[in-house]
Amino acid sequence: MSSMTRNDYVASLDSMHKQVYFQGEQVSDPVNHPMLRPSLNACAMTYTLAEAPEHTEIMLAHSALTHRPVNRFTHLHQNPADLVAKVKMLRLLGQTTGCCFQRCVGMDALNALDSVTYEMDQQLRTEYHLRFMEFLSAVQEGDRVVGGAMTDAKGDRHLRPSQQADPDLFVRIVERRAEGIVVRGAKLHQTGAVNAHEILVMPTLALAQGEEEYAVACAIPADAPGVLMIVGRQPSDGRRLEAGRLDMGNPEFGGHEAVIILEDVFVPWQRVFMAGETAFSGMLVERFAAYHRQSYGGCKAGVGDLLIGATQALAQIQGTATAAHVRDKIVEMVNLNETLYACGIACSGEGRPAASGTYLVDPLLANVCKLNVTRAPFEMARLAQDIAGGLLVTLPSEKDLASPVTGPYLRKYLRGTPSASMEARYRMLRLVENLTLGAGAAAYLTESMHGAGSPQAQRIMLARLADLPAKVEIAKRLAGIQDESIQ
Ligand code: SF4
Ligand code: FE
Repeated sequence: MSSMTRNDYVASLDSMHKQVYFQGEQVSDPVNHPMLRPSLNACAMTYTLAEAPEHTEIMLAHSALTHRPVNRFTHLHQNPADLVAKVKMLRLLGQTTGCCFQRCVGMDALNALDSVTYEMDQQLRTEYHLRFMEFLSAVQEGDRVVGGAMTDAKGDRHLRPSQQADPDLFVRIVERRAEGIVVRGAKLHQTGAVNAHEILVMPTLALAQGEEEYAVACAIPADAPGVLMIVGRQPSDGRRLEAGRLDMGNPEFGGHEAVIILEDVFVPWQRVFMAGETAFSGMLVERFAAYHRQSYGGCKAGVGDLLIGATQALAQIQGTATAAHVRDKIVEMVNLNETLYACGIACSGEGRPAASGTYLVDPLLANVCKLNVTRAPFEMARLAQDIAGGLLVTLPSEKDLASPVTGPYLRKYLRGTPSASMEARYRMLRLVENLTLGAGAAAYLTESMHGAGSPQAQRIMLARLADLPAKVEIAKRLAGIQDESIQ
């Protein structure tokens, strides 16, 4: 067992004093707020499963740092088997929660920072890696949730950070003191911010000379003075505030994203892992992105399993499961889903060690993984909606079901095959609605598009990593072209 139980985790969040805002008001009790509780439940599942003996192998890892078992979400990957286990862990959690369980960003940031700080120290004689190891030991010992914070506000995308009308549109160092630095700016789309103990700030893009103040990586307690979180909305999230639970589709779990404001936050040097080394910012961004693009081959495949299951169940309940075209569509969903998983496993199996000894994923295959993730879930959602039928968006509410006047009519007329209850059909329709149109679609669809970088970011990496000249050479050899250079 790792050091925190689920209950310890919830209690630890309860003891923090985060500044959280939602719909214009400060949230006094983020742990129990009905809008946020599903996301806490999802993140807490990373502890619950770690306590389950049948999942120990996948959820725990042996730390090369503390020489003890640690939750895999705090682990540095020591070999390709670790990378594969990570993908399997995320698929399991996706299947269990049906949403974004939020803890992977921090895991990916920790792994990226490990190798980058090591190489910085080697080349620049800095002491970032030593500091980082101390921080990581505390994270592993305390089984802490780390939120990885990369995406800046970015303002006018045409302009470099220092050319923006407002210099704070990219997080930057505004002051250097003997004891540490002061940072200011905002990080957008911050997955699971409210459920994190720590925020691991990283630069958002490769920086050049003259942009030193933006080359900053550091760890900030999530309730440090000057840290403010503004929770974002999701489709149909208001259903969480209604009395019933059926209309939520996935009443227990859900993710959240927040804008994190850093208003002149002081960070002691002990928690600073990059401060001005522009030459290493691109390396950090690329390694983090590769890890997180691998992650999607696990978590989205897990949610995809749920969508396939709910769609198949609906087909059975509605009496269409044996129709050839329905069977074919379900098979296509399986094909698409397993393609994502296959890419996640492939980039893991082809992992290579960085100089620090920590394993990196194969960057080309990780980018192929994520580029598939920007498309397959959308096609799977289309097929699921095709099979589910129009009732997906015309279904009356849970209150109508409970009403003595309308309830009996709904039970009579909305029933499918006699062998299944009307409630089963209702629940499955709501689950498919949640995943493809509602709060769950924020994670399953739009996050699949933009999380870990939008599709164009993956295309740029594919173009860079494809090694087209080598492919031209093998084609020339086979075609018998020897002394001619093809431009
Ligand atoms: Fe983890 Fe997936 Fe959420 Fe990213 S989108 S944090 S990989 S569950
Ligand atoms: Fe994400």
